[in-house]
Amino acid sequence: MAATMMAGGELAARIRAEVAEEVRELGELGLATVLVGDDEASQIYIERKHDAARDVGIVARDYRLSTDTSEEELLDLVASLNADEAIDGVLVQLPLPGHIDEGRVIRAVEPVKDVDGFHPFNVGQLYLGQPTHVSATPLGIIALLEEHGVALEGARAVVVGRSEIVGKPVALLLLARNATVTICHSRTRDLAERCREADVLVVATGQVGLVGAGDVKAGAVVVDVGMNRTPEGLRGDVDPAAAELAGLMTPVPGGVGPMTIAMLLRSTVRAARYRRGLLAFPGG
Ligand code: NAP
Repeated sequence: MAATMMAGGELAARIRAEVAEEVRELGELGLATVLVGDDEASQIYIERKHDAARDVGIVARDYRLSTDTSEEELLDLVASLNADEAIDGVLVQLPLPGHIDEGRVIRAVEPVKDVDGFHPFNVGQLYLGQPTHVSATPLGIIALLEEHGVALEGARAVVVGRSEIVGKPVALLLLARNATVTICHSRTRDLAERCREADVLVVATGQVGLVGAGDVKAGAVVVDVGMNRTPEGLRGDVDPAAAELAGLMTPVPGGVGPMTIAMLLRSTVRAARYRRGLLAFPGG
């Protein structure tokens, strides 16, 4: 029996409508994005974020700096955005050009405005089980699982990929929901075997079709985070034929993808709530 598809578009639209309502209640909200260089994919992502912000009434400011911008110049801009009362969220689009220390820039963003959840303070809060700002894609994955009533308590969850953006944070979010979590990566032995053990399988590797059609357990929930551009179009990390065995599965495109920007908008509202004292920001 083929899996039920967990499409993200409808849920993402609902979240965006909720965010628009919250923005109306909170008054003016500001999101600043910073893009250094002319990476084509990054430009597309930034434009999508701006369109989505505008749609929900968030005022988005677009800072574009040339590739040869120095680290100090970028840090100065981040400092000015940190100090800007009209700005609730600051997002520095990654990757940055090689001559800029990404970690230093991430650490320079005021944690309360770090809507990407990349600052070590916010990462630490997630580690402690007291999440503040969390990376948007993992939040979108959890929202999709909750929307479909996936039981995580005691479930065997396998996450393939251990990036700071997807793999590690989604593993921590699953752990916080009492799943039994295994994290796999490029050095994992018997990857297919680990995948077949999963009740909930999350794959975020950037390797087209890494998880084969037979590498999932019958009835498993499969979340394919992969967004790989191929001559045949956008492809995931999981062979779409795995849907024959899975119980629930995200399509690519149209699964996790639409959720990410919706969750970023929600994080911007969260930042505004922290900054207005409507939510407590730890240590703030
Ligand atoms: P990343 O930073 O490149 O990390 C990839 C991870 O996959 C690493 O931990 C790597 O292991 C692991 N890996 C690579 N090859 C493997 C293999 N053969 N077997 C097992 N593990 C392997 O990637 P990312 O940023 O997490 O993104 C992953 C995918 O998700 C990409 O396709 C990306 O485009 C997509 N993505 C989608 C969204 C969305 O909104 N839908 C958002 C973010 C990312 P090691 O650590 O051992 O190297």
